[in-house]
Amino acid sequence: MKKRMLAFAALLLMGLLHACEKPQQKFETEFIDLFDTVSQVVGYAADYKEFSKFTKKLHEALLEYHKLYDIYNSYEEVNNLKTINDSAGKSPVKVDKRIVELIIFSKKIHSQTNGLVNIALGPVLKIWHDFRTLAAENPKEAAVPEIALLKQANEYTNIEDVLVDEAASTVFLRYEGMALDVGAIAKGYALERVCEAFEHAGYKSILINLGGNVRAIGAGQNDKPFRVGIKNPLGGKFLNIIAVRDRSLVSSGGYERYYMFNGRRYHHIIDPNTLCPSDYFEAVSVLCRDSALADALSTAIFIMDYESGLALINSLEGVEALWVLHSGEIKYSKGFKAFIVN
Ligand code: ADP
Ligand code: MG
Repeated sequence: MKKRMLAFAALLLMGLLHACEKPQQKFETEFIDLFDTVSQVVGYAADYKEFSKFTKKLHEALLEYHKLYDIYNSYEEVNNLKTINDSAGKSPVKVDKRIVELIIFSKKIHSQTNGLVNIALGPVLKIWHDFRTLAAENPKEAAVPEIALLKQANEYTNIEDVLVDEAASTVFLRYEGMALDVGAIAKGYALERVCEAFEHAGYKSILINLGGNVRAIGAGQNDKPFRVGIKNPLGGKFLNIIAVRDRSLVSSGGYERYYMFNGRRYHHIIDPNTLCPSDYFEAVSVLCRDSALADALSTAIFIMDYESGLALINSLEGVEALWVLHSGEIKYSKGFKAFIVN
């Protein structure tokens, strides 16, 4: 599997594992085989054995989601999103209900964002992905895809043609040439489901950073909120340090996955209106309870102007956001500043 080491969009400053009476020690670990990114778990536990028992369970749970939502690799034991993409125009695929649920959630996000976040944009995203990969392997070969090529691929991106049969637990892409890409949503969605399960199991104090998707279960040591730094996309130290309790903080930006061509940066978040990388901001962050929603919204507000993004954020209960403009100026939604520690 291709593993990519990414800089974090957010760094965990401190963490605490499991509410426990015994004296706690700080431990941390990293996963490098999940969702094509690096993940961090920081926590306190009575001893390393307790910590590693927890992180093993966490890793297993996330790895299941990783396999189900993988669009690049097949796994013998399971039908996943790649199976669905490979069967486009041919036949419905029977899948785990975690795939059906992700697609239903993604359809909701599609309508909430007026089609800006579209998991059926796969054919267009694949072209950009291939150009990015080529440029990474050989920067001299870097190029930008022809708009005609992008438009042709865009003929096969209608989310209405992603047919879900909930009762039968099948998914069918109506036409050959269609492809799902859940990169904008899957990490947050998987993290939310896994954290929910740990919450139900009684865990009270965990902080996880799944490649820039941060999710806290409970609060930190001595019931103080966790402190999470938001990386400054323009360099230097953190933009802000945020107090996070029972909450998720997700950032999207054009500063991590990109390639250069003719002195311009071509990043990985594509505006479906132009079929090209969006150019509104350096980065955005979304703060809310649900990590799936935070992930979807951070991609969404990265590809809309500030006024539209603010209106979307304000229309939702308990959701806050910040926008980093190209000038370096930062804009905040009304309630965001209450979470800033520094
Ligand atoms: P990251 O995955 O780097 O944390 P995002 O959550 O913003 O960042 O997701 C970006 C990924 O989403 C891209 O790599 C691509 O797979 C996918 N994507 C890009 N543009 C769109 C879009 N308009 N709609 C849906 N998915 C998109
Ligand atoms: Mg996202």
